[in-house]
Amino acid sequence: MNIPSPATGTAAPVLLVEEVTKSHPGGVTALDRVSLRVDAGELVAIVGPSGSGKSTLLHIMGTLDRPTNGSVRIAGHDVQALGDRHLSALRARLLGFVFQHFHLTDGLDATENVATGLLYAGVPRRRRGPLAREALARVGLDHRRSHLPQQLSGGERQRVAIARALVNGPALVLADEPTGALDAANGEAVLRLLVDLNTQGTTIALITHDRDIAARLPRRVELRDGRITADVTGVVSAA
Ligand code: ADP
Ligand code: MG
Repeated sequence: MNIPSPATGTAAPVLLVEEVTKSHPGGVTALDRVSLRVDAGELVAIVGPSGSGKSTLLHIMGTLDRPTNGSVRIAGHDVQALGDRHLSALRARLLGFVFQHFHLTDGLDATENVATGLLYAGVPRRRRGPLAREALARVGLDHRRSHLPQQLSGGERQRVAIARALVNGPALVLADEPTGALDAANGEAVLRLLVDLNTQGTTIALITHDRDIAARLPRRVELRDGRITADVTGVVSAA
């Protein structure tokens, strides 16, 4: 299957969500005709209170879940047209994920955890280690690369998870409450790291319920009751 790498990508936006509705069993409409475009190089906050549909939107943007209605395109690829195998390939090559609770594998050291981000992207085994070490260096963790998750602080674990999300050079990184499980100082460091990575060219959509975090990002999409109520560009407070 031909999935272009982000570097050679077309003029298509990295993400195009059009009129997406998601209904859950039991009649809950988690998303109601949501449309959203993200271009290469953006850092977008998706902000809203608990229950507003943020995680549902992240799962649909990440092709982990399919909409009830509407369409999703990742770097020009129509998600609906792809079967599960092709979707896995698309995810492995074009997307990176960062979760609130890190989702690292316990028995693997930092390098091995990051290398798992390359397993399904078709990268040969001998290339995975060097690429993983390079990604760990980008997040400032060269000196922790042989540590197991339980030997790392929360902030370090999240940086390993960020390195794993970056290691395949994704078109889009999706981060769901990435500072939500961290204390203030570590949360601040992780937020600054994400802002730095964006400055270096990584496209990021960051989900948060925290308006102070959202206010520091260059674009804010506000969700309420499954609908986009605002989409504002321009930093309102210094990062
Ligand atoms: P947020 O991440 O903003 O807190 P969610 O996307 O998790 O919001 O949820 C949006 C709405 O959809 C909520 O009302 C939630 O209860 C409902 N919901 C989410 N997932 C499911 C599910 N699997 N089944 C039924 N309802 C769900
Ligand atoms: Mg959520």
